Amino acid sequence: MKKIVVIGSSAASIGFLTKLRQLDSKSKIICISKSKHLPYNKCLLADYIAQTANEDRVFFKDLNFFKKNNIELFLDTKVINLNTTKNLISLENKKQIKFDLLFIGTGTSPTIPQIKNIENLKHIFTFQTIDDAWAISDFIKNKKVKNATIVGTGLTGIELADTLSCLNIKINLIGKYKQIMPNQLDKNAAAIIEKLISKRNINFIKNTVVTEIKKGYKLFFDNKKNIQTNMMIFATGNKTNIDFLQKSKIKIQDDAILTNEYMQTNIKNIYAGGDVCLVKDILTKEYVRSSTWPDATKQGMIAASNIKDKKEIYQGIIQTTCSHIFGKTFISCGSIAQTPKNCKIIIKKDQDFYHKFLIKDDKLIGFILLGKINQVGFFKKMILEKLSCKSLSNLES
Ligand SMILES: Cc1cc2nc3c(=O)[nH]c(=O)nc-3n(C[C@H](O)[C@H](O)[C@H](O)COP(=O)(O)OP(=O)(O)OC[C@H]3O[C@@H](n4cnc5c(N)ncnc54)[C@H](O)[C@@H]3O)c2cc1C
Repeated sequence: MKKIVVIGSSAASIGFLTKLRQLDSKSKIICISKSKHLPYNKCLLADYIAQTANEDRVFFKDLNFFKKNNIELFLDTKVINLNTTKNLISLENKKQIKFDLLFIGTGTSPTIPQIKNIENLKHIFTFQTIDDAWAISDFIKNKKVKNATIVGTGLTGIELADTLSCLNIKINLIGKYKQIMPNQLDKNAAAIIEKLISKRNINFIKNTVVTEIKKGYKLFFDNKKNIQTNMMIFATGNKTNIDFLQKSKIKIQDDAILTNEYMQTNIKNIYAGGDVCLVKDILTKEYVRSSTWPDATKQGMIAASNIKDKKEIYQGIIQTTCSHIFGKTFISCGSIAQTPKNCKIIIKKDQDFYHKFLIKDDKLIGFILLGKINQVGFFKKMILEKLSCKSLSNLES
């Protein structure tokens, strides 16, 4: 009987486990996670703090899932080493586990930028795990926080600002770029959201970095200005959880695990999926970090099919971000951050929506839908199937 070990218990790993058990009822399966908690959906953490998503929705797999599928689960168990020659993983608790096949879905951990004096402060939070969400909520409640600072204006920072500003807290939102979410929104779409931000109890400071924090949570910026706050939350990016691979022969590129079209690493019996991976961008053909929940789940499922010799090819990702922030739903897809040369741009807008389409060589290569997103499936299909934009008379304004 084969022994299959899975490291991680989030999107990629659950996708892998679910598919694997559909294809294989016999193998011994062990799932190991450093998380203390049953699987939860990170996409709902801001809603959870806002109390618009309850625990039943957030914790998306219960113990019964593992029991029913005969999966041995070890929570609060960190893998610290992988020996690819001996097919052996070492755990922080000194135990070792052998495997025939391994799936790695270890995702990412948050990073905090270097800021003078930050190491001496207590009220510093990150926003990536359910423990972070509990810590933020408890601190706000227990200390009756009236002023919080969020550093980072990517999607997670903006979602959190949206949530906390509804809890009667004055928010300072600090972003180092000239606009919010530069990778997902162009400046027009960002300006629409920024206008909504300015209508809330939010002090939005852009194009600025925090350089020092002094006693009493006084923050100093690179422009010499300063503000006072009660707590700081960093939503400033993340790094892949690959420390345990340092002594292994797994190929790492740009700090992530390189996978092929079968979600297989360079080691034959080891597969990987999710945010810890580099995968192909369908449009640019370049390797990019995977970064969304649906992509992680799909990669896990494809890895499981291939471990069972089903030879299912992973086509790659189209960078997509979707959210509902400050009362507006948006989806951005494809090449948004950099507009390629010779690209035709179509913009359609009115009071309720802003749509932008990027067309190159008669093919749709990216779009932003803000406000109205009802045709998103159709536009995504156009990109994936490289359909001619000539048929898109409804795009022309
Ligand atoms: C606040 C927030 C909001 C988000 N919103 C969205 C959204 O709206 N839409 C969207 O598509 N995506 C969103 N994302 C991104 C999405 O959550 C990730 O793409 C997804 O979680 C990646 O899943 P994963 O399984 O690859 O890794 P992760 O979710 O990072 O999970 C990694 C797993 O590996 C375990 N692990 C790590 N290292 C070890 C180790 N050494 N030993 C044992 N176990 C280990 C961890 O405990 C965890 O179980 C959001 C992320 C955050 C933080």
